[in-house]
Amino acid sequence: MIPVDLHCHSNISDGLLPPDEVVRRAHARGCQLFALTDHDDVRGLPLARQTASELGMQFVNGVEISVSWGKHTLHVVGLGFDDQNPELLAGLASVRAGRFERAERMARGLEKLGMSDVLAGSQKFATNPEMISRTHFARFLVESGRCKDTKSVFKKYLVRGKPGYVEHEWARLHDAIDWIRGAGGVAVLAHPGRYDLGNETLRVLLIEFHRMGGEAIEVVSGTHSIADAARFGRLANDFSYQCSCGTDYHATGEGSREPGLNAELPFGCVPVWERWRKVDPIDVSVARPS
Ligand code: AMP
Ligand code: MN
Ligand code: MN
Ligand code: MN
Repeated sequence: MIPVDLHCHSNISDGLLPPDEVVRRAHARGCQLFALTDHDDVRGLPLARQTASELGMQFVNGVEISVSWGKHTLHVVGLGFDDQNPELLAGLASVRAGRFERAERMARGLEKLGMSDVLAGSQKFATNPEMISRTHFARFLVESGRCKDTKSVFKKYLVRGKPGYVEHEWARLHDAIDWIRGAGGVAVLAHPGRYDLGNETLRVLLIEFHRMGGEAIEVVSGTHSIADAARFGRLANDFSYQCSCGTDYHATGEGSREPGLNAELPFGCVPVWERWRKVDPIDVSVARPS
């Protein structure tokens, strides 16, 4: 395992713990380099950064931007940006702005099945009211006894083709990449194994993402199998991407991963985090032969 985690959520988006507690949990498990990457919002970063600094853990600013690419929804992780950058902040605000109206449409779909209380119920789970998401719906439907766990809620109600799913326009791919890069950060394609893309479409995406300025892809992810990691490690090398890793931690008991540690990257992968990892300086006068 490696002590690096560059993809985690707090209750600023759809995680359950506040930012400082996610950081403490990752640190307690041995993490040395950590990024908080809430969906479409960076307001958790100051508290997370402060907590990491108190614990002596290296911290990288992060965000996970929701993107529409044709008919596909993708997630782009931004890392190492200036979280005061006005264009980035305005871009993220524009992505969040559509969420409430989307939630109303989702609730209308579920109302047709006789569930009348879903919007108000789900809102109670969204600590950050601008960031109501399918995860909050899922938690409410579990709490109200409609399903045994959030995974089953998604399968039955919240994925494309099911009654609580609605189409939605997120940020455009090149805008998301420009916001991240404009703020000095690196754009990373999150969990490529989770998109239902055929081989050919995936190749087109990897070419386009690179051309638009994307520099890395997540190879090791809490949502990837070992086979996914091997496959995306090879694709990263073929398409000249650096590689990232992250647990995609949301809540203990939801999903299998705890925050803080990840599997090693496959052989030959170039880690995106080398640029942030501080190493002890070598004494050049000793290291260099005279
Ligand atoms: P939203 O941004 O509102 O569409 O919510 C997306 C979030 O829902 C993702 O970031 C995951 O946390 C969660 N999610 C998506 N699909 C699933 C699934 N099949 N099972 C459990 N959680 C999921
Ligand atoms: Mn999520
Ligand atoms: Mn994601
Ligand atoms: Mn995520």
